[in-house]
Amino acid sequence: MSVLANLSVGGLAVTLRRSERRSIGLKVTPAGLSVYAPRRVDEARLRQFIEERRNWAERHLAAMQRPAPPMLQDGFHLPYLGQTLTLRSVSGIRRAVRVADELHAPEGRLAAPTEAWYKSEALRVFPAIAEHYAAALGRGHPLAAVRLSNAASRWGSCTAAGVVRLHWRLSLAPLSVLHYVAAHEVAHLAELNHSPRYWAEVEKLMPEYRVPQRWLKVNGQALMDMWGAEGF
Ligand SMILES: [Zn+2]
Repeated sequence: MSVLANLSVGGLAVTLRRSERRSIGLKVTPAGLSVYAPRRVDEARLRQFIEERRNWAERHLAAMQRPAPPMLQDGFHLPYLGQTLTLRSVSGIRRAVRVADELHAPEGRLAAPTEAWYKSEALRVFPAIAEHYAAALGRGHPLAAVRLSNAASRWGSCTAAGVVRLHWRLSLAPLSVLHYVAAHEVAHLAELNHSPRYWAEVEKLMPEYRVPQRWLKVNGQALMDMWGAEGF
């Protein structure tokens, strides 16, 4: 049986659950923060344990308590590399297709075909942009491949083997933001770190990179949360 108590640790509400366990554990759920502790650990030690993990806990709490992203529906405005497409729910089609400034998606299942359309656009558009920056970087740092990613929290990556990954949701961002992430990852072909020398490479590739970098900091989460999956 566990014994429950409520703690307030520097304004952070924590439910304390004591039991026969041996170690202290911290858990974040949408309902809040819980600390699991052995019966004999004193409260001061628990408070210290929570304080040391406050940043981590607050970050995860904020992520869990964000409202669920909206579901796609007819008339939804979809950003696409600085343009705006209006989503139309259309019967009798099997995949999403762009018609002028509209994106037509199969009625009744809008999200998956829309996502598939964005991914195919990303595959069409992204490699040439990365290759452009790789050419500007010079021959000593070859770009082996450009792939799409669907990571939860990063926009791109670059491996020592020269594989650059760019998140498909960058196709929801303004074109300059896609360029910035491509240049950022390609610059890692020369410097696999974030040293001043690395940032000098980025600046050579894209002198005005700070504007889209800032845009992504402010708006990136909104791109990740643009719409939710259907049917779950
Ligand atoms: Zn980086």
